Amino acid sequence: MRAVVFERYGEPAEVRDVADPEPAEHGVVVRVEATGLCRSDWHGWQGHDPDIALPHVPGHELAGVVEAVGSRVTRWRPGDRVTVPFICACGTCPSCAAGDHQVCERQTQPGFTHWGSFAQYVALDHADVNLVPVPEELSCATAASLGCRFATAYRAVVQQGRVAAGEWVAVQGCGGVGLSAVMIAAASGARVVAVDVSARALDLAREFGAAHCLDAASVADPAAAVRDLTGGGAHLSLDALGSPTTCAASVNGLRRRGRHVQVGLLPSPAGTTPVPMARAIALELELLGSHGMAAHSYPPMLELVRSGVLRPDLLVTSTIPLDEAPAALAAMGAAPGAGVTVVEPWS
Ligand SMILES: [Zn+2]
Ligand SMILES: [Zn+2]
Repeated sequence: MRAVVFERYGEPAEVRDVADPEPAEHGVVVRVEATGLCRSDWHGWQGHDPDIALPHVPGHELAGVVEAVGSRVTRWRPGDRVTVPFICACGTCPSCAAGDHQVCERQTQPGFTHWGSFAQYVALDHADVNLVPVPEELSCATAASLGCRFATAYRAVVQQGRVAAGEWVAVQGCGGVGLSAVMIAAASGARVVAVDVSARALDLAREFGAAHCLDAASVADPAAAVRDLTGGGAHLSLDALGSPTTCAASVNGLRRRGRHVQVGLLPSPAGTTPVPMARAIALELELLGSHGMAAHSYPPMLELVRSGVLRPDLLVTSTIPLDEAPAALAAMGAAPGAGVTVVEPWS
């Protein structure tokens, strides 16, 4: 098969022929019809992820068709259209037994713990636990965008954030996951304040239902601006970018007993990120993390997508063939961009 391979961190990846994957007994091999390009892939390529072993094939936001099935798989057969959360759970550890597959103690992540979906085929583990059927109405390009940023945003806003109609929700950072969060919060009946430094990102946030858009580059204190706009602070605030600045702005923009959800990854040279904990105590804030979403939590989200209430397809701004993926991966560092690029390995 053809795949995007890199031999060294930060050096150009290339498309080359490699051996087709084989399914594990509990796994499947999926023919990749579409796979999203994500900033996590760029972090992996830069060497920021300790799970990656070289040479490596990135890619973790995929949809496609089951090609081969392991001997112990009972729920899937060749020809099924599927997607998968980027965290593949084992299904049997104590966390999985409690239904918390997104924090599985023996999780695998295609494109990190093993070769991913910037390839014509990808192997996925524990298929009966992790695969999600893709409704007929959804294209594979749209379904590919669900597995990472959209499902992550859905869990952060709806499950961890417990959004309620009429609440104020602030979203710091309007890249793929932030724009998804804006759309999901607005569809939940919340009033959304979107914050970013890019005019293009804020235009999209407005299109996706933000009531207010704040240009963080032109206001002195974005957290104070959020508190002003929301009559004292947001009920729920997300750091969807992942930086010390946006994390602090999210916490500082909350009202009393507000909920902060950290969604953006926080790679830090110091290994830790400062958080305004004094404010967390004084205002009884809740500080929460959100990490993907379990496959069994997909059906309510998929129903909202199928019925058109949520429109992840609007986030997909370009579709490219595999040959253009190495350059697009390298470009993610300089310009994360507001839209989602989807790679189609067979086009
Ligand atoms: Zn991703
Ligand atoms: Zn598990």
